Amino acid sequence: MGVMSRIASVLLPMPLPEAFDYAEPEGLELAIGDQVAAPLGPRLLRGVVVGLREGAGGNRPLKPVDRRLDEPPLPANTLEFVQWAARYSVDAPGLPLAIALRGARAPKPRPVRVASLTAAQPARVTPARARVMEAATGQALTPAELARAAGVSAGVVKGLIDEGVLEIREVVADARWPEPDLTQPGPTLNASQAAAAAQLNQLIDQRGFQVGLLDGVTGSGKTEVYLEAAAHALAADSTAQVLILLPEIALTQAVIGRVAARFGAAPGEWHSDVAPPARRRVWEAVAAGSCRIVVGARSALFLPFANLKLVVVDEEHDGSFKQEEGFIYHARDLAVARGKIEQAAVVLASATPSLETLRNAETGRYRWLRLSARHGTAQLPTIDLVNLRETPPPSNTWLSPPLVAAMRETLERGEQTLLFLNRRGYAPLVLCRACGERLCAPDTESWLVEHRYSGRLVCHLTGFSMPKPDRCPHCGAKDSLVSIGPGVERVEEEARSIFPEARIAVFSSDTVFDAREARRLVEAMAQGEIDILVATQAAAKGHNFPKLTLVGVVDADLGLRGGDLRAAERTFQLLAQATGRAGRRDRPGRALLQTYAPEHPVMQALKAQDRDAFVAAEMEERQLAGLPPFGRLAAVIASGPDAAQLEDFTREMARVAPNAEGVDVFGPADAPLGLVRGRRRRRFLVRADRGVDLSAYMAAWRARVRPPSAIRLSIDIDPYSFL
Ligand code: ADP
Repeated sequence: MGVMSRIASVLLPMPLPEAFDYAEPEGLELAIGDQVAAPLGPRLLRGVVVGLREGAGGNRPLKPVDRRLDEPPLPANTLEFVQWAARYSVDAPGLPLAIALRGARAPKPRPVRVASLTAAQPARVTPARARVMEAATGQALTPAELARAAGVSAGVVKGLIDEGVLEIREVVADARWPEPDLTQPGPTLNASQAAAAAQLNQLIDQRGFQVGLLDGVTGSGKTEVYLEAAAHALAADSTAQVLILLPEIALTQAVIGRVAARFGAAPGEWHSDVAPPARRRVWEAVAAGSCRIVVGARSALFLPFANLKLVVVDEEHDGSFKQEEGFIYHARDLAVARGKIEQAAVVLASATPSLETLRNAETGRYRWLRLSARHGTAQLPTIDLVNLRETPPPSNTWLSPPLVAAMRETLERGEQTLLFLNRRGYAPLVLCRACGERLCAPDTESWLVEHRYSGRLVCHLTGFSMPKPDRCPHCGAKDSLVSIGPGVERVEEEARSIFPEARIAVFSSDTVFDAREARRLVEAMAQGEIDILVATQAAAKGHNFPKLTLVGVVDADLGLRGGDLRAAERTFQLLAQATGRAGRRDRPGRALLQTYAPEHPVMQALKAQDRDAFVAAEMEERQLAGLPPFGRLAAVIASGPDAAQLEDFTREMARVAPNAEGVDVFGPADAPLGLVRGRRRRRFLVRADRGVDLSAYMAAWRARVRPPSAIRLSIDIDPYSFL
């Protein structure tokens, strides 16, 4: 028998079913959470120690861990959260670990060369040199920045360096984060806001896991209230950290600005647009505890917080919190789980909370805080339905006479219109008049969308694109392709032809590429530099446009057509958000919804602005069907290149589905999106009673099948997409 040594189990950030065992090398005392380099085949990989136990390692000696990396360890809570998330999502723990290590693997910020004043005096002081010396006093700028700040040429700065008046030093961006200033008071809260803030503070003071639902119409001051709670949490505990999650990058920008204004220091910013070195700096400062406020998109949930005490999920109902690719998770649900692990308070904020969250509030599991009205004089808009059967737009146009009349009045008063249409591009379908062919991407059953700005046909699903041809690719007829239906670009074209003198812009993910462009457009709109903004949901959320008084919803029925579980709920939320943009300051707003189904309960509830009636009706239907929030759902999507093989496999899978009380398995069936990139897709849907541990059920089922290598199997707990 050899010497007793320890075995380290190391989780690698890749899709492997479990952690691997390694020997702890002599003289290296590892701890759980340590980042290490461990050999896998011929390579050394970064991994994290998730277990340590005594043992000799059996017959075959284990390979030793190569070394501990000189990097912050992952906190125990972060590690527990990663493992919990993997179990919940029925996926490999290495996937959420990879998200948690994203900042640690980014390159370190490079040192920058800055110029600073020495004691030496210049031989000759010109006005230009004097300006440089003044600009260099008390701050460290690069030579180029210094020249710009002083308004001189680079040569002037270089001359001072050559004379030794300025010296060049290399500095690395400060790893410490500026402390938030908690002495700055926030705005004076109105009675309803103050009551909600007091309750949130109470939740925080209980210093345990608590969830509050901050429920108030758009403009009621939810952001002000949760910033107040953040201030309270930070003041109550000098090492406390706060995480604010938003569903979209464009929204993070607005909240970052408000946090910076409120606390006199920028928060850590975390989303896919943040450059890797900046990401690294945030990651390290969060692990060290010096970065105390993080504003980010869903993956910020996996940051290595040292002492997380408050998590805010703003716009908690938003479907963008659901990550559908790679590691599949819902950031709102995981935020609650993380809060539980961290013993932190969680605040879910929305004007139109999800049915899941409302149910938890109704049953008392979440504390329900309602903000009664808009802050100050701002009123909710009046909402009218335009019955398109009675007042249709002229053929091949999309704006009805009542909507055009309202736009004209708004324009004449110098106010703004938002035309909302949740459809990118020019036309959602291109069809051949000669043979009837609907143009699709190769090997994919999804229509090609025409984009006029780029002159291309684009598949929004696979990213495939091609220039618009002048002949039908199917029958070869010339000039036979027609554009069917409207997208935002087409509505913009129509608005331009009706109001040639108006300033019109489009806001969609094709016209607004990044956070900076989004901010620019939002500012132009806020400054009144745009008369008519045609926008997808990218602009329907969270922004404040003081001069916006008319919202026209071009196709209010759009979301109702798809027919999935949350179609009505989502339509209600989206339209309530979009119409909520109007009249946020002192001017009354109105919204016009163009619909072919004015009698539909969603339209009636919107017109009456009666959320509670809509929710009650929708809850009843869900309860009857045993659907969320009264039951649980999971989906299985199997895909493969060979239809017969896929069918055999899914039939076999159905045969071995475990029998369990309160679980129904539906399928397999061809997915509505039956073919993507040459792969056939089939689906199962599993419904379970609330008390069932659906993740455990799915894991047991998954363990019973061995898919052929060509078949990919993915499990989606609580699916939002049914395609
Ligand atoms: P919500 O998050 O509910 O949409 P916001 O917090 O963005 O609402 O508030 C809407 C607008 O009203 C913002 O410009 C905000 O600064 C302002 N506001 C809200 N409450 C107050 C208050 N108590 N004092 C001053 N301004 C307020």
